[in-house]
Amino acid sequence: MANTMNNRRPMVAGNWKMNGNLDLVNKMQDGIGNLAKQDLDVVICPPSVYLQAFDKQSLLLGGQDISEYNEGAHTGDISARMLKELGCRFVIVGHSERRSDHHESNELVAVKARVALEQGLTPIVCVGEPLSVREAGQVFDYVAAQLDAVIQGVGSTQISQLVIAYEPIWAIGTGKSASPEQAQDVHHFIRKHIAKADEAAASGIRILYGGSVNAANAGALFAQADVDGGLVGGASLKKDEFLAICQAAN
Ligand code: PEP
Repeated sequence: MANTMNNRRPMVAGNWKMNGNLDLVNKMQDGIGNLAKQDLDVVICPPSVYLQAFDKQSLLLGGQDISEYNEGAHTGDISARMLKELGCRFVIVGHSERRSDHHESNELVAVKARVALEQGLTPIVCVGEPLSVREAGQVFDYVAAQLDAVIQGVGSTQISQLVIAYEPIWAIGTGKSASPEQAQDVHHFIRKHIAKADEAAASGIRILYGGSVNAANAGALFAQADVDGGLVGGASLKKDEFLAICQAAN
């Protein structure tokens, strides 16, 4: 059960990555439509080719990435404006797979967050450390640098418009989630760090946890004081499991 001690609306976002098909679109559409009236934002981030197959009346859609440009000669890229035109409200930026596979820097992620906001999309900004950084005891410094780039990039007046996802890289797709205490520890740090730039924004901003969230561990993770929901990869491809995770955040 999500914590109820604040005014932040819980949120669960499903990141399909490069998975799924039209059959999954239809299955999810049916299941999630029933959650629409609950006190919860459920966002599906499918591969962009499937965005139009969803019925936007009954759920929220997000992209998995955007170009830093709005248009032009950038073969294979998709702009924030295009996602907006297809009815997206959110876009993931700075996912660790983008940072590693496409060498995206903190600065580029910050530009993408700014461009998303300019085009009326809410960026879900991913931060999180590799195992080596955790073992070296440098999680807070590492995450602070990722946050600082984004705070600088979007400007302090826009921080409240962001969603942050803390995704420790060692927990993504490994089946080895952070413990609720480990997640809370970093989420609390993130909120305190944002408060240095804007205290009001820090108390209102949603901070999602991502990394091997499943139906069995979601309740304990989402019950933490600074965990406002989840960014879910693998489990977002299984309808019943994903719905159970959504219920845990409600
Ligand atoms: C993700 O890729 O954002 C993610 C959290 O994946 P998983 O839930 O599969 O660990």
